[in-house]
Amino acid sequence: MNSPWTRRFIYALLALAGVIAVAWVFQARLSVWVAQKVVAQRLATELKKELSDGLHVGLCGAGSPFPDDKRTGPCTLVVAGSQILVFDAGNAATRNLGKMGVNHGQIDAIFLTHFHSDHLDGLGELLLQRWVSTGNAQPAPVYGPPGVQRIVAGLREAYAQDASYRVAHHGETTLPAAGSGGEARPFEVTAQRDLVVYQQDGVEVRAFAVDHAPVHPAVGYRISYKGRSVVLSGDTRPSDAVRLQSKGVDLLVHEALSEPLVRLIGDAALQAGRPNVQKLMADIVDYHSSPEQAAQIAQEAQVGYLLLSHIAPPLPVPGMAKAFLGDASAIFKGPIRVGIDGDFISLPADSKEIRVSKRF
Ligand SMILES: [Zn+2]
Ligand SMILES: [Zn+2]
Repeated sequence: MNSPWTRRFIYALLALAGVIAVAWVFQARLSVWVAQKVVAQRLATELKKELSDGLHVGLCGAGSPFPDDKRTGPCTLVVAGSQILVFDAGNAATRNLGKMGVNHGQIDAIFLTHFHSDHLDGLGELLLQRWVSTGNAQPAPVYGPPGVQRIVAGLREAYAQDASYRVAHHGETTLPAAGSGGEARPFEVTAQRDLVVYQQDGVEVRAFAVDHAPVHPAVGYRISYKGRSVVLSGDTRPSDAVRLQSKGVDLLVHEALSEPLVRLIGDAALQAGRPNVQKLMADIVDYHSSPEQAAQIAQEAQVGYLLLSHIAPPLPVPGMAKAFLGDASAIFKGPIRVGIDGDFISLPADSKEIRVSKRF
């Protein structure tokens, strides 16, 4: 009982209890100290300086309209050279971009693929943070097919009172009224005609029409920088335009919906006496792509990496990603991933390297 080991064990136990007691007594001060460090680090983060020169693509929202904690509404971040671009602004876009280290005030441009609400229900918040984070004097350019003017004008109206309060409270020098909201930059593409819609410091963004009928217009984007390229499919059923634009790109971010898993929800809804939900589940299948169809396009276009996003339905049980993929991995011979919020793919300039990491 009195052996040196027993004594040492008791001392260690007492010391541990002491540490816990001190931590308990000082928990408020300790937590503030930790929070201070986190805030200081967050505010000092400069994503563009942190990243190597190249094309970087992050999922600031890998989900769909389904409520899903791990995959929030559609949002894709592209950092290329000096440019920070955001494609679609789903419900958690602003928070997820912050977690990735983006200073919202430094966002150069926002692009919309189409006007389904899940792709823009975080846009108001994003425009607000882009304005207030650095006191931008110019509104954020918001690119999109015709109809983007209505979205931007509607949000301006919805946020008009808020903007006036903030200017009154903080002053015109800190928050110039002219910088609030967005500025619509509409462009028109057709099945026969794609278009370069943005060109800055070696970064090129090309828009092309996709097939999300009855949703018109709907577009995808191809972004290139220093020999690297990525295609974002937007929402679409399998599309020849996506296939053509993706030819030989380093990364294809393609939407994906699993028909068998969506049908499970439909069947459960019917059994639960909710025919409305069952009808929705039956309808959504026809204007999206399955993981296998996305894989087929990736294989035919010989892309370097296939990242599935706009994942529907949610995959709440571990192991479901495999069920979601179905035969996709056999169809596409390259690397394939079921995207999740925080995924980050780096394509260093003028190389063939593809680095996969998580930003949160
Ligand atoms: Zn969508
Ligand atoms: Zn859609």
